Amino acid sequence: MNKYYFNRKPKVAQTAEKGVKKRNYKSKPNLVKKLDRLFSLYIRLRDAMPNGYVRCISCGKIKTFDDVDCGHFYSRTHMSTRFDEDNCNAECKFCNRFSADHLIAYQTNLIRKIGISRFEKLGLKAKSTCHWLDSELEDRIKYYSQKVNELSREKAIRVKVK
Ligand SMILES: [Zn+2]
Repeated sequence: MNKYYFNRKPKVAQTAEKGVKKRNYKSKPNLVKKLDRLFSLYIRLRDAMPNGYVRCISCGKIKTFDDVDCGHFYSRTHMSTRFDEDNCNAECKFCNRFSADHLIAYQTNLIRKIGISRFEKLGLKAKSTCHWLDSELEDRIKYYSQKVNELSREKAIRVKVK
């Protein structure tokens, strides 16, 4: 047997171990993904009018529930404001995904909605660093699951919670 054969064996064992780790559905990226989905539903339900339609924070157009996203004023890369209710508002898919300058109108309308002092606080918060503990993410998942259920019943908007 040559040396190459012996060198290969431990690699097979390593791969098997990695496979086990991958199945851990409670890993931090999965918790963040799950909370992203729930938080998005919550924001869109919060901003929905009693008739089930939603006004885009940026362009002001009225859209159906399925045609709006949860638009972040400070992008999702800012972990400190990723799940902040002031930072997130219902925004139409066009503004959120394709418009390069949607944040100009977003800013004006956000200040109108939450006031200048909360807007300034939000800016400071977005610049701070933040490391979420798994337990904090899990607590928010529980909190927003409940909120989504309540709002979806109250506003008679059917949502799919995965
Ligand atoms: Zn829009």
